[in-house]
Amino acid sequence: MQQMVSVSGDSGGDAVSDAPLAAPDGGAVDLTFMHAARAEAALAAAAGEVPVGALVVRGGEVVARAGNRRERDQDPCGHAELIAIRAAAQALGTWRLDECVVYVTLEPCPMCAGAMVLARVQRCVFGCADPKGGFLGTLADLSRFPGLNHHFVVTGGVDADACQAQLRSFFRDLRVAKRRAAQHPPPSSDEQG
Ligand SMILES: [Zn+2]
Repeated sequence: MQQMVSVSGDSGGDAVSDAPLAAPDGGAVDLTFMHAARAEAALAAAAGEVPVGALVVRGGEVVARAGNRRERDQDPCGHAELIAIRAAAQALGTWRLDECVVYVTLEPCPMCAGAMVLARVQRCVFGCADPKGGFLGTLADLSRFPGLNHHFVVTGGVDADACQAQLRSFFRDLRVAKRRAAQHPPPSSDEQG
C-alpha cells in the first residue's frame, strides 16, 4: 500500500531534473529499492538496532547501502542514510551526489535531511513518516527550506505500512523482552541481600 505524498521540489529547472529516477511516478522502481532498504533495516534489527535501512542509488544502480548503527557504534550520528550517503560519496569519489536518490525506510531527521542538502542529492524517497523527528515534511521540510542553496525532490509514504510494521514489531519485541527481564531478574541481583 503506497501513498505518494509530497512529490515535487521547486527545483524543476535543474539540469538533472529529467533523470529517470526523478520521475515522481517511478512507483515500481521506488518500491523495489524500498524493499532492499527494508532488508538493510532487518539486518540492523537482528543486531539490536532500531530497524532503519537506507540505499543510495544512481542511474538505477545501488551505490551504497547501510543500516542504523547507533547502538553498535554508540554514535548519535550513526543513522542509516547518513552512513549510506558517506559511503556513496566515497565510492563515487565525490561529495556531490546530485545524480543520486536516497531511499530510507523512515523519514529523515534534521541531521540526515541536512546531509542531503549538503550532498546536493537529487531526490529522497522515504517509507513511513516520523512524527517525532521527520524533517522532510512532518515537523519541517528541509528539502525546500527557504534560503538554503539546494532543494530536492521528496517522495514519502513508499511502502509506508511495511516500514512502519517493521519498526512497531521491533519495539514490541523490545517491550516484551524488558517485561520478561523485570519478571525474572538475574539471580545475582538481591538474592544475597
Ligand atoms: Zn537521521
